[in-house]
Amino acid sequence: MADQTDIRIRDVVIVGGGTAGWMTAAAIARLVKRPDMRVRLVESADIGTVGVGESTLPHIRAFNERLGIDEAEFMKATCATFKLGIQFNDWACLGDSYIHPFGDYGAPGGEAPFHHYWLKASRNHPVGPIDDYSVPIVAAREGRFAPPADDPRSLASTYGYAYQLDAGLYASYLRTLSENGGVERVEGRIVEVTRNPENGLLASVTLEGGEVVTGDLFIDCSGFRGLLIEQALQAGYRDWSHWLPCDRAVAIPCASVGPTVPYTRATALEAGWQFRIPLQHRVGNGYVYCSAFIDQDAATRRLLGRLEGVPLKEPNHLRFTAGQRRKTWIGNCVAVGLSGGFIEPLESTSIYLIQAAITRLIELWPDRQFDRIATDAFNRQMDLETERVRDFIILHYHATERSDSELWNHVRTMDVPDSLASKIALFRARGVVDEYREGLFLHPSWVAVYLGQRVIPERYHPLVDNRDEAQLLAGLQRLRDAVRTSARRLPTQDDYIGRYCPSEVAA
Ligand code: FAD
Repeated sequence: MADQTDIRIRDVVIVGGGTAGWMTAAAIARLVKRPDMRVRLVESADIGTVGVGESTLPHIRAFNERLGIDEAEFMKATCATFKLGIQFNDWACLGDSYIHPFGDYGAPGGEAPFHHYWLKASRNHPVGPIDDYSVPIVAAREGRFAPPADDPRSLASTYGYAYQLDAGLYASYLRTLSENGGVERVEGRIVEVTRNPENGLLASVTLEGGEVVTGDLFIDCSGFRGLLIEQALQAGYRDWSHWLPCDRAVAIPCASVGPTVPYTRATALEAGWQFRIPLQHRVGNGYVYCSAFIDQDAATRRLLGRLEGVPLKEPNHLRFTAGQRRKTWIGNCVAVGLSGGFIEPLESTSIYLIQAAITRLIELWPDRQFDRIATDAFNRQMDLETERVRDFIILHYHATERSDSELWNHVRTMDVPDSLASKIALFRARGVVDEYREGLFLHPSWVAVYLGQRVIPERYHPLVDNRDEAQLLAGLQRLRDAVRTSARRLPTQDDYIGRYCPSEVAA
């Protein structure tokens, strides 16, 4: 058996300095780097980054903790706000609104999941929307926030939270962290990628000025272009645009008006949807749209007409195709971020997928033999994660009653992947969430989006009948009151941030 120390990775090259590149660099610096390992990140200020990606999922907190990041310092530096969920407006039908919360409905305990009790009661009694039984939803609606309580019996412990942050400041923050951890930044545009003729592995990248950067392991964080994984290694692409036809976005920040709410908003429009991400110093906005149904000028006018504050920059236009590379790890090249694929940001999943790829890469950290068993495992796991995200996003489009435009008629009537069709059928018939053992979206998320999109189960779980109806109704009333009281005890998010992590950065 080879001496493992002889075949260790000594030279890591990260191509790209957007969110993916700097998250990868910071994680490697903190968790993998040894004194005899060199880590370089090549980026081009001329090309720049995608400049969006500001709403996250609660998993980012575990990533930050592993990297030893102090929360208040990080939030100050990135002008971040707290996020308790996503509000979906006009998705099921025009005028409708629901919140997908980062937390459970009801109180801890119960023989069947809470939504079955609510389903039974709501058939014949005015028990209100299920949203009234979720602390994070009620708190979000009232603009309130405090971290969850530690006591698992408390209603105030039934939620998690994420951040809404400035993407440019986040990359700068991670850059400082990475450089302090020994990562070297190389400025320049890569014009050539060379491969070892004997084994096909990547050997080096060459910059415009002629500098050659060699490496053992290459991490492709070059964004949509996939400079290494696609342009050099021709991984191929699984195109999912027949299910997710939006292929363009226009993004523009505007000045904040009014209190900062602790949630991201996604409003369905005729040819796509609009996002609104409130930060401490500004609001991020964008219209994600399908170019078959609206052109760039009309989409830009539509977005500008809906901004709440004055625009702070020129519109940023982006193009993409929903899908994933056929392989995201080939030989000594691993794609992380947009270079590996893209699913529209409706549930803020891209930064999560970056984090998932980094975590798996570190778990399966290679040596210079680049064992196929490990790369196959990485590809399988990332495929599974990405397909599950894909199905969850398709659900939002497909389960709609909207018929007011070509986009909505298309997505409402299209065939969906079998993996999703069977899940929807089970929930519609029995109210049961077909759960995964692993993966991103767990039980409460599926319940939120099924019910929010009006996939209403025909039956509730039989165990619910074990509870006397009068008792059930009284219990629900008590719970609804307790949820409201618990949420109203929280300070407003602006008060909380003002005390905990006020940013000094101007818009
Ligand atoms: P990029 O930011 O594009 O970075 C690519 C890097 O590669 C740059 O540094 C560039 O200079 C470098 N590079 C490229 N070519 C070369 C070359 N030849 N030589 C040298 N350097 C090169 N995600 C979320 O999680 N939440 C969201 O709310 C969210 N919103 C989004 C909204 C929109 C409209 C879009 C399109 C995406 C959104 N995303 C969101 C996705 C998110 O923006 C990305 O996942 C994230 O920014 C990571 O991008 P990246 O680092 O992979 O690529």
